Amino acid sequence: MLDKLGIKRIRLDLPFRLNHVNCFIAEDTNGYKILDTGLHNQETEKRWDKELTGKQVTDIIVSHYHPDHFGYAGKLQEKTNAQVWMPEMDLYAALQAWEQPFLENLRSNYARAGIPNEISTALTENTSGFAALVTPYPKVQRLLKEGDTIQFGKYAYEIIQTPGHSDGLVTFYNEENNVLLSTDHILPKITPNISYWFHGDPNPLENYFHSLKKIKKLDVEWVIPSHGDPFQNASKRISEIEEHHKERLISLKEMLRTGLTVYETMEKLFPKKLAVHDTRFAVGETIAHLEYLRLAGECTCELVDGVYIYHVN
Ligand SMILES: [Zn+2]
Repeated sequence: MLDKLGIKRIRLDLPFRLNHVNCFIAEDTNGYKILDTGLHNQETEKRWDKELTGKQVTDIIVSHYHPDHFGYAGKLQEKTNAQVWMPEMDLYAALQAWEQPFLENLRSNYARAGIPNEISTALTENTSGFAALVTPYPKVQRLLKEGDTIQFGKYAYEIIQTPGHSDGLVTFYNEENNVLLSTDHILPKITPNISYWFHGDPNPLENYFHSLKKIKKLDVEWVIPSHGDPFQNASKRISEIEEHHKERLISLKEMLRTGLTVYETMEKLFPKKLAVHDTRFAVGETIAHLEYLRLAGECTCELVDGVYIYHVN
């Protein structure tokens, strides 16, 4: 499928449990366009240097602000002088998520989530450790806007906003081939992380459900994701993902009969021991589900001695 589209996949290793990210490169009349860039580290730089020898890069397209997609964009822009495209909302998130005011608030946010001090310290350090992997920030000249089209390889793609995994995340749809570059909106093997990170939209899971429905309507045949291999039948995978979250919400409501902090809820939802980086995602994912229930009026949340307690009556 990728050959037919004139797109090459660049699979970059990641030092996480999710051990790779797919970036893409495609030739255009004036040079090459790149979709997502990887983390800014030595391996990424080496891999792109090798791939781009003798090639003129005109455009760097960043689907969302997460470090494995956005991180190397600034450095690559310095090297190539390419113009950078991003969704506006995620440009805003990218410029604050690893900066002091936000990092300072993290500690108090974690405290209200009932997270023990030493774990909260480790989580905060883990977050600030990403600064080096996402800087220098790119200078973004072009915004990826809903309904606009962008040429990538042999075909043009409609830009579709699919918030949830991040507030601004976009996917790219080509109707002729009925193919979606799904970025992190739909993945084949794992469910995309849906987290509240103490900034941005207060109900990412609700947004995500909406975005899944939006893509389901297209009845997409081929999905090219940012993690894992291309696969067929988007709607089938969307149903599985919806089911996963609905089941999680049901078990969550059962758990909350006793009244739980975010941290206690997380330990029940994710009973296996998690590495620090994974704990951050687990906390975010737990809050996204708790807040979805609270905003739907299905549970309450009360601040008791400085810690939020979620409760189903
Ligand atoms: Zn992501």
